[in-house]
Amino acid sequence: QTTTKPPPTPSPLRFSKFFQSNMRILVTGGAGFIGSHLVDRLMENEKNEVIVADNYFTGSKDNLRKWIGHPRFELIRHDVTEPLLVEVDQIYHLACPASPIFYKYNPVKTIKTNVIGTLNMLGLAKRVGARILLTSTSEVYGDPLVHPQPETYWGNVNPIGVRSCYDEGKRVAETLMFDYHRQHGIEIRIARIFNTYGPRMNIDDGRVVSNFIAQAIRDEPLTVQAPGTQTRSFCYVSDMVDGLIRLMEGENTGPINIGNPGCFPTLFLKDMMFVFKHQYAIDAIRRNLVSFLAILGEFTMIELAETVKELINPKVEIKMVENTPDDPRQRKPDITKAKELLGWEPKVKLRDGLPLMEDDFRQRLAVLKN
Ligand code: NAD
Ligand code: UDP
Ligand code: UDP
Repeated sequence: QTTTKPPPTPSPLRFSKFFQSNMRILVTGGAGFIGSHLVDRLMENEKNEVIVADNYFTGSKDNLRKWIGHPRFELIRHDVTEPLLVEVDQIYHLACPASPIFYKYNPVKTIKTNVIGTLNMLGLAKRVGARILLTSTSEVYGDPLVHPQPETYWGNVNPIGVRSCYDEGKRVAETLMFDYHRQHGIEIRIARIFNTYGPRMNIDDGRVVSNFIAQAIRDEPLTVQAPGTQTRSFCYVSDMVDGLIRLMEGENTGPINIGNPGCFPTLFLKDMMFVFKHQYAIDAIRRNLVSFLAILGEFTMIELAETVKELINPKVEIKMVENTPDDPRQRKPDITKAKELLGWEPKVKLRDGLPLMEDDFRQRLAVLKN
């Protein structure tokens, strides 16, 4: 009796040049904030060779300065919406602007990056038998009706809003990942990243932590967008990178939430006093009392502003400004799966992470601490 040989399974080590354990790793978007920290960590392992492909839309060569010229490192100016031919064992696919002001700047380009860019990276993974990790986002949950958000929640996303190029783009990217996995046997990993902060964030990218820190350093008022009671969770970048590598090296496809569900319940009373000073905040709360009550024990933008003020510049003012459309009211990861499947949980508390970011921002803004 003849036995049929099973089809060859793609081996992540197929293209290793030296020893079995050597890895050639592509990081798309590696010149950006999270990508450059990931590259630092991957380069620490002498068995890794790292290729970065980036179009420098929101990233910069400066973030990778210390690796340029290193024999195990290569930087390619490349837009992922175009095909890419390289021979690699793993692909960390991060390329995509993450800050709302940048992804809304050219929404058609954002959706092309998410859809065509991910398709190209999957085509590449298929050709070379590489394992591919996509950095998806908590934005796939939209303005969530389930709280905190487990991976099983399908989300509440506006398909035609100004954020949709990003949210829906990432949702399609996730779909493509699973279709290539089912149809072509590609080894996939999906991380759903929640708000991340740390050194090398773009100073003027409009995200809340970078805005508040830059404002506090420049003695400008901290701009809390109304109503200020919306919540987020903030994960320090070293924890994020650790989670991404564990996901890539582990056996689970995901999607897995990676974020820091930490909170500051003690500041809640202060919050309420601040909010009640502002009439339009009160109106917003009246309109949605339920969601206001739901924030008990979570981390609001007012709390974040109070914390930045306390840690960085106690003299700075906090002012309420208009918000943008479709801003999710609350967001906090359920990280049970990351804990159980990856043995991962965040280690850096916001109060410890903010000062590290302050040092980096002061250097780049050339403003010394008094
Ligand atoms: P970032 O903007 O600093 O980095 C993105 C990088 O991708 C930049 O270097 C940019 O130049 C590059 N890029 C953009 N479009 C490209 C294209 N078409 N071709 C090639 N390169 C391109 O953002 P980040 O915060 O480092 O985010 C990295 C990834 O993590 C993104 O996929 C983002 O969606 C995801 N994410 C980030 C957060 C966060 O809080 N930072 C939250 C959720 C998801
Ligand atoms: N692709 C790429 N690099 C590769 C292989 C493919 O960028 O090494 C691109 C290719 O140009 C195509 C996409 O990935 O647009 C999807 O490739 P696939 O082979 O899955 O689909 P097909 O080319 O058959 O449409
Ligand atoms: N935000 C704020 N002040 C700012 C920038 C943002 O209060 O200067 C709020 C914004 O309304 C949102 C939250 O901070 O509720 C997080 O916004 P960010 O753009 O950082 O990330 P998002 O989670 O919306 O992608």
